[in-house]
Amino acid sequence: MKTGRARRYRPLTLLLVSIMFLLVLMQTAFLSRQQALSELQQRAEADLARYALSVQQKLDRYKDLPRLLATHSSLRQALKATDAAQVQRTNEYLQQVNAIIGAADSYLMNAAGITVAASNWYKPNSFVGLDFSFRPYFQDALAGHAGRYFALGTTSRKRGYYFSWPVHDEDRVIGVVVVKIDLHEIEQDWNDPLQDIAVTDEDGIIVISTRPEWKFHALRALPRADLQRILASLRYLDHPLSALQVVKRETFNDHAQLITLLEGERISNGALDGVMTREYLLLQRPVPETGLKVSVMARLKPVQESVLQAVVLAGCIYLALVLLVLFLQARWRMVRERQQYVQELQNARDALETRVAERTADLSSTNARLLDEMAQHRSTQNELIQTAKLAVLGQMAAGINHELNQPLTAIRNYADNAAAFLRLGKPERAETNLQEIAGLTERMAKIIHPLKEFSRQSSGQPCPTSLKAVRDGAMSIMYGRLDQKGVELIWPPHLEQVFVLGDTLRLEQVLVNLLANALQAMESSDEKRIEVTLERREGRVRLSVHDSGPGIAVDDPQRVFEPFYTTKSSGQGLGLGLSISHRIMENLGGSLTAANHPRGGAVFTLELPAVAQPDPKQPEQPGQLPPNEDA
Ligand code: ADP
Repeated sequence: MKTGRARRYRPLTLLLVSIMFLLVLMQTAFLSRQQALSELQQRAEADLARYALSVQQKLDRYKDLPRLLATHSSLRQALKATDAAQVQRTNEYLQQVNAIIGAADSYLMNAAGITVAASNWYKPNSFVGLDFSFRPYFQDALAGHAGRYFALGTTSRKRGYYFSWPVHDEDRVIGVVVVKIDLHEIEQDWNDPLQDIAVTDEDGIIVISTRPEWKFHALRALPRADLQRILASLRYLDHPLSALQVVKRETFNDHAQLITLLEGERISNGALDGVMTREYLLLQRPVPETGLKVSVMARLKPVQESVLQAVVLAGCIYLALVLLVLFLQARWRMVRERQQYVQELQNARDALETRVAERTADLSSTNARLLDEMAQHRSTQNELIQTAKLAVLGQMAAGINHELNQPLTAIRNYADNAAAFLRLGKPERAETNLQEIAGLTERMAKIIHPLKEFSRQSSGQPCPTSLKAVRDGAMSIMYGRLDQKGVELIWPPHLEQVFVLGDTLRLEQVLVNLLANALQAMESSDEKRIEVTLERREGRVRLSVHDSGPGIAVDDPQRVFEPFYTTKSSGQGLGLGLSISHRIMENLGGSLTAANHPRGGAVFTLELPAVAQPDPKQPEQPGQLPPNEDA
């Protein structure tokens, strides 16, 4: 999960990473440049030593030749001679020697600086007769010591290095002998594309270079006086000797400088065309005793390339590291998020378990309360049923009273008789009377037994129940009342074969209720007839009780099932019988409906699930009466 803090710091981190990136690149560039420059310097130094040595060797080969020539007598004679033959011999001698030593020109000047004899005497631009007294090498030799000088030839316009030596006649200098060598081919041996080489004179003027356009330019701008002096010496004839355009010059170390030149092709008016700058590492080394200095100017292209390589490499490594860090960070975050997720799941599960446990406890207590309430409800229902029964019993009390009065009176009479016979000493007759009493008490017990059964509470569990047992039980309760009122009661045949899922005691109660209601309804009817019919359909049994009374007095016959609905005067009815009967039938999985019959009278129909006749070996249902054919 990304926190707000992490989001807030992200631009800052990005900035830091970028700054670090730049710093790393800059540092890498700096270090790799230093390293590459050092390597370049090492290489350039080695090359420089080689180039300086080659210049020195080249010059060393010639440096003693003028001295050797000066010792030759013919040269002295030529300086003193007046005849042309001697001069000509000297000319030829010089020509010969010049050819042997491979010099450009060899010539002899008198003390006035006029060339007396020369190896190129036969050429159109021969030095013979020319005045070179202005040349420093002449003046040096005339002063009695060796002269060395670099200059452009006035006639040949070729670059040459001049070695001179005085020609003595005894102690007097009478002339100067000069050997001029061509340094042209030195440049041709130097052909490294990454290095430019320049040889400068004492004034810093480039006299030899692998870059033709640099020739006769100064490495540094010359002071005006020096420039005037050099121009006056005609050393480089009419070359303007302007300086190379150095735009930047910095010291790299004690031995090397970094210079940046403005370069381009020089066009006719001397200006540069296609201008660009180029950086060089400049190293210089003097060639001993020559006044010359060899400069190597190594191009920085390899340095730039290796810097670029190092920077690219460092950049790649840095980016790879950053990516690695990001990857590890993302991985770590993922692991942490997963742990958090697992923890949250765990918490949610714990919370759920706690809630389930609480709800289970709630449900258990609700369940217990419901069971309690159901038990209460059941007991209330049982009490109501019992009350209803008692109400029926109350109604019956009068009849039973009448039934019992008769035997009681008879018992009283028989008892009186027995006492009288005993007083008269006729115990046999007394015994007969007592037997009658015993018979009467048995009859009374028979009258009372069904009432006792009727008032008993049922177990309430539906089980296969015989309709015959129900009929017999109900009839024993209705004992005598139907006959008393002169009611004709018709039962359907073969009831002993019909079994329903129910409860004998409850069904008895319902049937007694219906019969008692019918009896009351027909009180003032002329015809007193109750017909019970049986119908079996689709696994159900329907038992209808049809009386010949006035029928149900309300528009909607089902209202009679409402509790406390009664049309009877107080003391006669509570209005509970049918509502309880209705409830009993529903509880047994059946129904009780009321209707008025088209031919008159009320019809109450019981409906229950039919069941097969149970195995006779099974124990009898509790509360089931033995068949009572008398009833
Ligand atoms: P009670 O008999 O105490 O009045 P019941 O619930 O048994 O209570 O009956 C309710 C009412 O239904 C009776 O008051 C009566 O008006 C009507 N009733 C019941 N049975 C019959 C019947 N066979 N013929 C006509 N009316 C009846």
